[in-house]
Amino acid sequence: SLDVGVLSIQGDVQENILSAKAAIDELGIDGKVRSVKTPEDISQLDGLIIPGGESTTIGQLSLVNGSLKVLKEKIENGMPVLGICAGMIILSNTASDRIVGKTDQPLLNILDIKLERNSFGRQKESFEADVSLDSINIPKFNGVFIRAPSVSDVGSDVEILAKFNDRVVAVKKGNVIGTAFHPELTKDISLHKYFINLVKSFKN
Ligand code: GLN
Repeated sequence: SLDVGVLSIQGDVQENILSAKAAIDELGIDGKVRSVKTPEDISQLDGLIIPGGESTTIGQLSLVNGSLKVLKEKIENGMPVLGICAGMIILSNTASDRIVGKTDQPLLNILDIKLERNSFGRQKESFEADVSLDSINIPKFNGVFIRAPSVSDVGSDVEILAKFNDRVVAVKKGNVIGTAFHPELTKDISLHKYFINLVKSFKN
């Protein structure tokens, strides 16, 4: 049975649990989704979603409680991870903020990407727009961008999954996926289904 976790330090946890559960059900896979917080919770997982929220808070608290270290080991050993918005920031190796400049925040250094936080502006500049993730067979997806980052630099081994207005907004490297937009805030669960399938193939 698949054991999928949603990191529940801060942010959009419940919506991701619901979307991942719906994906598991629709795919007819035997599995469960639970919120995880501690290194012990995380050590058992087959796959993890790091939700959107405030990346400085999620990063700092998971550093302090020891989760960041376990996460890094698990992901480096192949556990699939979906980092959404703040979650993608935490996966990256460099982050700066469009408004305040360079930020000093804990990062996992897993994805060789450079991120600009709040790249599209502040809360009131949040928006929705269709994006295409053609390489993973999702030609049209409703992207919900909330104080979203964009990827300003992509390492050579990182695949670009989607762009919006010439800016990179979704990436993949092996078992690691990052999106600047929030797939859990739209009815379409195709991205969660893609992720669950990735978790399933890792487990097999
Ligand atoms: N702006 C937030 C950050 O930099 C991310 C916003 C989000 O996750 N929706 O951490």
